Amino acid sequence: MAATAAVVRQAGGPLNLEPIEVAAPLSGEVRVRMVGVGVCHTDLVCRDAFPVPMPIVLGHEGSGVVEAVGSGVSGLRVGDHVVLSFNACGHCHNCEHEAAAYCHQFMPLNFGGQRPDGSSALSQRGERIHGNFFGQSSFATYAIARESNTVRVDADLPLELLGPLGCGIQTGAGAALNSLGMKAGLSLAIFGGGAVGLSALMAAKAVGAGPLIVVEPNASRRALATELGADAVIDPKAGADVLAVIREHAGGGVHRAFDTTGIPAVIATAAEALLPNGLLGLVGVSPMDATLPVNIMSMIMRGIGIKAILEGDSQPQVFIPRLLQLYREGKFPFDRLIRTFPFEHIEAAIHASEDGSVIKSVLRF
Ligand SMILES: [Zn+2]
Ligand SMILES: [Zn+2]
Repeated sequence: MAATAAVVRQAGGPLNLEPIEVAAPLSGEVRVRMVGVGVCHTDLVCRDAFPVPMPIVLGHEGSGVVEAVGSGVSGLRVGDHVVLSFNACGHCHNCEHEAAAYCHQFMPLNFGGQRPDGSSALSQRGERIHGNFFGQSSFATYAIARESNTVRVDADLPLELLGPLGCGIQTGAGAALNSLGMKAGLSLAIFGGGAVGLSALMAAKAVGAGPLIVVEPNASRRALATELGADAVIDPKAGADVLAVIREHAGGGVHRAFDTTGIPAVIATAAEALLPNGLLGLVGVSPMDATLPVNIMSMIMRGIGIKAILEGDSQPQVFIPRLLQLYREGKFPFDRLIRTFPFEHIEAAIHASEDGSVIKSVLRF
């Protein structure tokens, strides 16, 4: 099938809209007509430096309508509204124990640019275009996904906005609810008020946790964090002692801390902000050679745990419907993070994400 895709041909971009061919779905696959797709930081990391094969079609927060199903697909039909999430093998130890985000094949299945059999569903006049990015490559009008990473959603929901539930929003909300176990009576300090951090905030608020503190240098993001339920916001660039302010607002420290920045000095503050038996969650993209800047004896004497988190420890088939239920109840207004752009304006959407003017850019088709 003829499609239009944003193809990256060299590290650093650009993402050129080009005509491509999308193959028919193989066994276990579906072809999805894209309706919306979010721009996630990982797309930009892969455009710039992370070793994915090129030319490639990125995009991994897709939402759309099933247009064709391959053999062996039993749970999806043509016309279903779906959200696409990360890819996993389904049969390794972690996949079999509800930890698919840590699939032993996560790297090749999500970053390898090809199906497990070595083929690509994407081509251009016979030339191979790498696809299968996060089991979707959804910066395109049509995408091939697997039934296993395709989550059916109700048709009355705003489909064009749902794609980020498959990665960034799921990562933040899942970190709060799944990885850090937020619940009433637990306090949380969130470092970074982007899409992941604010999703963690909304999820923690939805389950009655608190106090919730957001550390974020961007004034408009701090204001939004307050509207979304933060009990305190801190500007780390205003000269205040962030650690002291957190302790003051949270009765001496927090039960949970969540870093989305990947900045070692920020992680050091997050670790020190924790009360005894506290837990630190890490999701930020750090420099490749960065190491943890924590004082080991300080950690041991307080019994601090550290959890590096992928995809919010989510099982997308269970967790995305749970988030949508909270959204329906008005407890998880993730749409407030989103600004939409036409697919043709993908470079503008990426630029708005990079300069911080938009929290979550979503492309509409
Ligand atoms: Zn697996
Ligand atoms: Zn992502």
